[in-house]
Amino acid sequence: MILVLLGAPGTGKGTISRIISEKYNIPCVSTGEMLRKTEDLTEEARDLLSKGELLPDSVINDLLVKRISKEDCANGFILDGYPRTISQAESLDELLKGLNKNIAAAVHLDAPIETIYRRILSRQECVNCRATYSKDTPTKVEGICDKCGSEVKVRMDDNKEALDNRMEVYEKKTKPIIEYYKKQNLLRVVDSSKNPEYAMMKFEEFANDLH
Ligand code: AMP
Repeated sequence: MILVLLGAPGTGKGTISRIISEKYNIPCVSTGEMLRKTEDLTEEARDLLSKGELLPDSVINDLLVKRISKEDCANGFILDGYPRTISQAESLDELLKGLNKNIAAAVHLDAPIETIYRRILSRQECVNCRATYSKDTPTKVEGICDKCGSEVKVRMDDNKEALDNRMEVYEKKTKPIIEYYKKQNLLRVVDSSKNPEYAMMKFEEFANDLH
């Protein structure tokens, strides 16, 4: 099963993709996470990342092709943060066509803007397992990851200035993808304004029909 998770920053793509990944035993492929983990990231890429600007399609497409060619993706995967432009969505279609594979659904996680700002500006991420926490979903012990006990930190682009920019980039470049998948009859909308359990309940209302 190949799933695309769509949604503005802070709508729960990372959290929901990790839950789906465990439950359905398919890996999550997060381009943002892959970039943050890259140690030899160029100065230019680091700058774009910290400002909330998109990296060039060619760089991201290469990263994605390499990742989904790995064996653990053979039975499917969940895309979190890719595609982010219509051009990336078209590249993905081409790539999957060549592999004789199909997207099962493009799941749009939807949450109001106030929720997004509250979550992101209170968000912390585990430096080890990348689990995320916020005011809505805090750690049990302050500063310590519930899952692996490592330190949790604020991401370099989780500040008001970068978030304003990420939202603008999302509106201009990423939101049109929703219509792109709607036209292909692949779009499903999940209310992610509450907690991850509620969003998963909504996802499971249609998940059995996906292949
Ligand atoms: P994310 O973790 O998905 O919020 O991504 C963090 C940052 O990584 C984004 O703000 C971009 O700078 C970069 N990034 C991640 N995925 C993509 C993508 N598909 N295309 C371009 N830039 C990306």
